[in-house]
Amino acid sequence: MNATYKTKAYSAASATSPLAFTAIPRREPTPHDVRIEILFCGICHSDVHQVRNEWSGVMPTVYPIVPGHEIVGRVAKVGPAVTKYKPGDLAAVGCMVDSDGACPQCRAGQEQFCPNMILTFNSPDKHLGGVTYGGYSNSIVVDERFVLRVPSSLKLAGAAPLLCAGITTYSPMRHGGVTQGKKVGVVGLGGLGHMAVKFAHAFGAHVVVFTTSPAKQEDALRLGADEVVISRDANQMQKHAGSFDFILDAVSAEHDLNAYLQLLGCDGTLTLVGAPAKPLPISAFGLITRRRSLSGSCIGGIAETQEMLDFCGQHNITADVEVIPIQKVNEAYERLLKSDVKYRFSIDMASLKSQ
Ligand code: NAP
Ligand code: ZN
Repeated sequence: MNATYKTKAYSAASATSPLAFTAIPRREPTPHDVRIEILFCGICHSDVHQVRNEWSGVMPTVYPIVPGHEIVGRVAKVGPAVTKYKPGDLAAVGCMVDSDGACPQCRAGQEQFCPNMILTFNSPDKHLGGVTYGGYSNSIVVDERFVLRVPSSLKLAGAAPLLCAGITTYSPMRHGGVTQGKKVGVVGLGGLGHMAVKFAHAFGAHVVVFTTSPAKQEDALRLGADEVVISRDANQMQKHAGSFDFILDAVSAEHDLNAYLQLLGCDGTLTLVGAPAKPLPISAFGLITRRRSLSGSCIGGIAETQEMLDFCGQHNITADVEVIPIQKVNEAYERLLKSDVKYRFSIDMASLKSQ
């Protein structure tokens, strides 16, 4: 069994309990491990889905759960075989902390599709038993293969969300050929959606935001959208029928996908990154009439995550964040459920250190 130390964290004891202060064990770094003192951790809607066991059919939550997979911090200690990091370096961790490294997906740099991929929280912990614990804590220990470099020019509170919201939107848009001359839709202006707008704009596309929140219109334009559609207004939707090359759907709750399929042109693609708990019905006609595609995407590989971070460094892209102390995390969850976030909560982990 590995030697361990204790670190402060916030955990939930059940699907109906609030997150509360606790202490958790972390392994002492093994030869290839990096120990990171966490400075900021973003709050992803996936944290809420999993704390409340909303994905029980796909990945049931094991309690207690310590969520958090948008982690930036400083390296505090490294194992003797670590070559890429040294104490004092800025470092980041996203949604994954391990994979088998040998399967075709890993060899292709797509660790997110490895059958033995280990998520940052609520995945089997092969070192300590039980499940992995995420970034709502003061420190984390991760194999250096899954540690990323943060460009030093970026503000750290806004860089943390790049580790999930950033890569989850960057990857499908790169894969989907979002470039200059393309008409691209982004559905849902939340944490993922607002990053999608920034990237699509940076890639040179014509960007249209679909929102249920009229109050977000001005922000959408400021973030880089060329047009905004209030998705509950059928007339506004109809004006864009059959016109999109690519639409990224980042909605966390049940909604009508058929309304977006009919906005795609011939061979257009609707890619889902949002992960509502319940299945969403699809009309075959929305797909067959113009050879449209419906697809999904899951975060991105480690090399692509580094590419995205470097792109953000070059273009000075970070998330728009509301920085909160960890003591406000339960309130932040309630606000996420009301689509009331501009546009990502980022937890200042100094607040946990002093608790
Ligand atoms: P978020 O910040 O809460 O944003 C979700 C947005 O969806 C809201 O701001 C809102 O935008 C819209 N929305 C919410 N309820 C809606 C409803 N009933 N009908 C229509 N629109 C609604 O969430 P997030 O952190 O960006 O995450 C979004 C989803 O992506 C979650 O399901 C999350 O689990 C998933 N996710 C997937 C991956 C992946 O790898 N595929 C990675 C991370 C997260 P408007 O106010 O603009 O309408
Ligand atoms: Zn996430």
